Amino acid sequence: MTADTPRFATRALHAARTRDAATPRATPIYLTAGFEFDGFDHAAEHFGAGSGFGYTRTGNPTVRAVERQLASLEAGADALLVASGQAAVVTALLTVAGAGDHVVSSTHIYEGSRGLFLDNLARLGIETTFVDDIADPDAWRAAVRPTTRALFAESLSNARNDVLDIAAVAAVADESAIPLIVDNTLATPYLVRPIEHGAAIVVHSASKFLAGHGSVLGGVIVDDGRFDAAAAGHNAPHLVLPARDGGPSVEARHGGLARLAYARESVAPRFGASPSPLNAFLIGQGVETLGLRVERQSRNALAVAEWLECHPDVESVDHVGLPSHPHHPLASRYLRGGFGSVFTVTLRGGLAAARAFVEHVEVFVHMTHIGDVRSLVLHPGTTSHARRTPEERAVLGVHPGTLRLSIGIEDVDDLIADLARVLAEAREVAA
Ligand SMILES: *Cc1c(COP(=O)(O)O)cnc(C)c1O
Repeated sequence: MTADTPRFATRALHAARTRDAATPRATPIYLTAGFEFDGFDHAAEHFGAGSGFGYTRTGNPTVRAVERQLASLEAGADALLVASGQAAVVTALLTVAGAGDHVVSSTHIYEGSRGLFLDNLARLGIETTFVDDIADPDAWRAAVRPTTRALFAESLSNARNDVLDIAAVAAVADESAIPLIVDNTLATPYLVRPIEHGAAIVVHSASKFLAGHGSVLGGVIVDDGRFDAAAAGHNAPHLVLPARDGGPSVEARHGGLARLAYARESVAPRFGASPSPLNAFLIGQGVETLGLRVERQSRNALAVAEWLECHPDVESVDHVGLPSHPHHPLASRYLRGGFGSVFTVTLRGGLAAARAFVEHVEVFVHMTHIGDVRSLVLHPGTTSHARRTPEERAVLGVHPGTLRLSIGIEDVDDLIADLARVLAEAREVAA
């Protein structure tokens, strides 16, 4: 060893370093906290104009690749990947609203989103009005105030499978120059792309269908890129006024993408909701097969729903693909290629039958998740919706005998055989 050969500890850290270029078929997993700068000026440019990659909390090539993939599938202009669906919802809302502002939300939303509005945003001074009858544009219009900064709803909701009339509610948002934010987790961009119907922002829990394998958490915000400073600047001073240091506004730098740029620069990295590049890679792998999975899941789910609806021990099935569902015509208008695969079934045997059901499933997995390639079951009344009052649960379609099913890609005959056996067990318990 010569005098200038680095020593053991130094070699352990630096011997593997390389700048060799290669062209991998798959997006590499850039599992790195940060990136070497090419030079003095590059570092300054990165901090000044945000060019290139510096630190993974503000940008990472693996994450960026998945953002491009999801923006394209959702027919958006750009996307921001974050650590979870909850992070996507809160990031989208904090991008458009602040203390003293107001949001109008559908009642038929994920319980975690509802808690965010009621417990957390309320403490930050952002007030929410909930709309029950989401099919009535006047109900939305009546809830809007001068301080309202967004309308929020799910394209397809759990537990009742309500379908949002996206174009009608987007029109109400347009009247006040505020964005309609749609949580498209249950429908996925394979079945409906809300931006094509007038929504401004789409959010997802990528933990569900987008990943599909149930191995990681993630979330995404997709923006239509049509922020209009002239029409909507008065609702978004943080986008159109000069920066804190007197520099150009977010809108001056990013134009129609001002909302997403603000989320990327000032919300997600500050609140720290950054995704792991490894998780981003796994989400990207899942998204490649999204269409195949959702097509199969939707077909399986409709077959299971039709079978359940004819079963004598079943009180009702809330699957929007069934002509008996009140939103079936709306679903036929908005959903293409299937009717989704998360729905509820209510058993005549009530709580005892529901308990027997989850305790006897073999192909179905008893857990709190949806959109997995495996079929899953959960009893919402004692889990996700346990903190609601019985009256609220009834309005939401969650009864003591109600079970939520998320249908996977198994052979559908095996799913139906599992259900037939389980319903027979449940009948014995109830007898
Ligand atoms: C699961 C879910 C979320 C939250 O997503 P996480 O990835 O679990 O944080 C938000 N909205 C809907 C509709 C969901 O199903």
